[in-house]
Amino acid sequence: MAFPERLAIASHNAHKLRELGRICSDWPVEWVTVENHDPAAFPDVEETGDTYLDNALLKATQVAAALGLPAIADDSGIEVDALGGAPGPRSARYAGEQASDAQNLDALLRAVRGVPSGGRTARYRCVAAIAWPDGRTEHADATCEGALVSKRRGARGFGYDPVFVPAGWDETMAELSDDQKDRISHRGRAFRALAEALAMDRGRR
Ligand code: IMP
Repeated sequence: MAFPERLAIASHNAHKLRELGRICSDWPVEWVTVENHDPAAFPDVEETGDTYLDNALLKATQVAAALGLPAIADDSGIEVDALGGAPGPRSARYAGEQASDAQNLDALLRAVRGVPSGGRTARYRCVAAIAWPDGRTEHADATCEGALVSKRRGARGFGYDPVFVPAGWDETMAELSDDQKDRISHRGRAFRALAEALAMDRGRR
């Protein structure tokens, strides 16, 4: 499965679209997104799977089928060791089905309030998937290790970034530049691995 000529991004999340636009800017494809195409043609896929992979494939396959075009999607989340890996695939809904990023972050800070700072290890995880309208799929996954701090710092990024300090850095993810985040992030790593798989497939043809 090589790079297709036209490729849809199965996401309505403006933050993710911006990050994917940067991370995948060198992919040799014409992008189709809710921002340059009729948004109503993109189904709003319910994340009913139990795993990141299930949800990434649900999003990619449903959008590929609806548009008749290959589609990429990601499913991602944060895993806190002191919470047994929660919120994990439920990260976007940690404080409730319609919760905002700010409410989810507050809920996470409340959940780790009693945990000593040395025990607040966590990681972001991302599964990047691509689906073709005929049902073929491919995927790659990656993590970004780090730890939680108890007070928000920084205004970049989204979600849990203001309280997540990546391993080897003093700054939170929300204090890093876009380039710095993309280089080390779970999403950057997963989509670069997916691109490598697609480029290798092209070489085999
Ligand atoms: P989903 O992949 O659409 O289910 O959403 C993943 C959720 O995980 C987001 O809403 C955020 O809460 C969190 N998340 C995933 N990636 C990141 C990131 O790069 N920074 C901050 N939060 C993230």
